[in-house]
Amino acid sequence: MVKAVFPGSFDPPTFGHLNIIERARTIFSEIHVVVAVNSEKKYLLTEIERVDLMKDLVKKWDNVFVHSWNHLIVQYAKQVDARVLIRGVRNLADFSYEFDLAMMNHGLSPDIETVFLSTDPQYFVLRSSAIKELASFGGDVSTMVPETVASVLKSKFVHI
Ligand code: ADP
Repeated sequence: MVKAVFPGSFDPPTFGHLNIIERARTIFSEIHVVVAVNSEKKYLLTEIERVDLMKDLVKKWDNVFVHSWNHLIVQYAKQVDARVLIRGVRNLADFSYEFDLAMMNHGLSPDIETVFLSTDPQYFVLRSSAIKELASFGGDVSTMVPETVASVLKSKFVHI
């Protein structure tokens, strides 16, 4: 009965994120999706938009919960008694970044393990930053994000 936390910006949530959650929820007893709120980072979507979109997207899964958090992720994991941090990895560049992050979190809290799930090949190219850029030019993002997300993205760039 191991619980896991899946932290991220989810700015916006993509089919790549949902695939990781869908697979992780069959391995762990509970998945706590944690929408990061970092005052140093600039987000396109507000905290409430990111949380509400994600809550709606995972509501079909009874062991997945969504919260936002603006402190260290290992503190959140301890609070919900989760022993695992899940991170998705698309390629070597991701792995290099994620490995450093895992080392840092391990230093902060040695009893919490980071587990990497490799991307499903069909979602290999999905990246929130590229999707935002595509949406800003009015490109079609319907194969990359759910409809609810596509419509929020559209509303963000309606003035352009
Ligand atoms: P962060 O700012 O924390 O990297 P993201 O929302 O970009 O937040 O990503 C959250 C997690 O989801 C990260 O571990 C990232 O590598 C993973 N991820 C993002 N897109 C994909 C994808 N297409 N396939 C697999 N994992 C992904």
